[in-house]
Amino acid sequence: MENVKTDGLQKVLTEGRFISAITKTIGEKLRENKKCGSCAYAAACQGGCPALSMISSGGSMLSSDEYKCAFFFGGWYEKFCNVMGDWKNLNPIN
Ligand code: SF4
Repeated sequence: MENVKTDGLQKVLTEGRFISAITKTIGEKLRENKKCGSCAYAAACQGGCPALSMISSGGSMLSSDEYKCAFFFGGWYEKFCNVMGDWKNLNPIN
């Protein structure tokens, strides 16, 4: 990992693993993470939160966000929709 003290701020912010990791697109994540890429909820979840992915995996932004997995696979999306009454999801999952 780059070090701002030895590599300089410009290098850290323009090249190397840090900038590569934080500029990954959702499409890249879905291609590189097979669980997310084949997930039925990917259109709504989009691989979850990168920060939560890091926390739940121990360090990788490209890992699945296990908190979002628990939400979607645990049936909480459907429960949420049921209690929202007239609310309409403009980007429905199914
Ligand atoms: S629910 Fe889990 S597996 Fe599915 S896209 Fe979200 S993070 Fe990935």
